[in-house]
Amino acid sequence: MKARNFRYIKPVSLQHAYRILEEGGGDAIPVAGGQSLMAGLNMRLSAPSLLVDIGDLQELGGVSQQNGHVRLGALTRHRELLGSDIVRKELPLLAQAATHIGHVAIRNRGTLGGSLAYADPAAELPACAVALGATLVLGSSAGEREVKAEDFFKGLFETDLRPGELIVAVNFPARQPNMSVGFAELSRRHGDFALAGLAAVAIGHSAIDSARLVYFGCVDHAKVARSVSAAVAGLRAPVTDNTVFEKAVREDLDPDDTPGLRASTKLHLATVLTRRVLTTLSEGFQP
Ligand SMILES: Cc1cc2nc3c(=O)[nH]c(=O)nc-3n(C[C@H](O)[C@H](O)[C@H](O)COP(=O)(O)OP(=O)(O)OC[C@H]3O[C@@H](n4cnc5c(N)ncnc54)[C@H](O)[C@@H]3O)c2cc1C
Repeated sequence: MKARNFRYIKPVSLQHAYRILEEGGGDAIPVAGGQSLMAGLNMRLSAPSLLVDIGDLQELGGVSQQNGHVRLGALTRHRELLGSDIVRKELPLLAQAATHIGHVAIRNRGTLGGSLAYADPAAELPACAVALGATLVLGSSAGEREVKAEDFFKGLFETDLRPGELIVAVNFPARQPNMSVGFAELSRRHGDFALAGLAAVAIGHSAIDSARLVYFGCVDHAKVARSVSAAVAGLRAPVTDNTVFEKAVREDLDPDDTPGLRASTKLHLATVLTRRVLTTLSEGFQP
């Protein structure tokens, strides 16, 4: 199938983009890497009359570090998460997650802002942003506002973005000395979207003092799994006993049966991933 006809415009500045989006109302849609949007247009899942290509806007790029934060521009490509020294040192969770996103061609074009705006429940980066306590900078012709990642994701493909608004950048707290991160996902083939996945951050010394665990693939949107996060406080390596968190996984996750995958299987996969990630986290705190 082919997309319906649309007009295409490439704004020269961020302010220009804001103006076009405002004038276009709901019929003007931004395109960044195009790796999700173009597939959707070709399948006629949406049919905007105007595509606003923000993919080269300087104001939306850049990776920088200051005042205990790392700022990633919305146009940070998935491949930059793998190649950036700042990301590898301060945000290793993002570097680990990026290796699982699609294939090389997709990582070359796809962007952080596009992934967060699209809010696919099986995507890696929304879960990482929530686990890391990131804050999104959202802009429009009315100015900028900041929204915590955990408040940004509202439901299935649903976010706090308002019409005409763009994700400008994402601010992540830099790594703390007593922080450990863990990431794991299960998919049918490497590069496929995850059937179930887990991104986690823990603070501790010889054991996990506090943790934020965020599932993806088996939930409708990225949110902190509060019961599991509370249940794992005090845990030490090696993690051999599922009963510590098994009940909490069932409290936090309520997946539906989907074609080819029963809800009970998703819960089983989530439990397996939880043990793997907790092992990684707690090994980070071994005396
Ligand atoms: C074969 C294939 C496999 C894939 N596998 C994975 C995978 O395993 N994991 C994964 O996470 N993703 C996967 N993807 C999707 C990929 O990561 C996309 O790059 C990403 O989801 C969207 O980024 P983008 O820049 O391409 O956004 P686009 O496709 O350009 O846009 C996506 C949506 O976000 C909006 N948007 C884009 N940028 C902004 C912004 N700055 N502000 C506001 N709205 C914005 C657009 O209007 C659109 O609605 C896959 C894609 C393909 C084609």
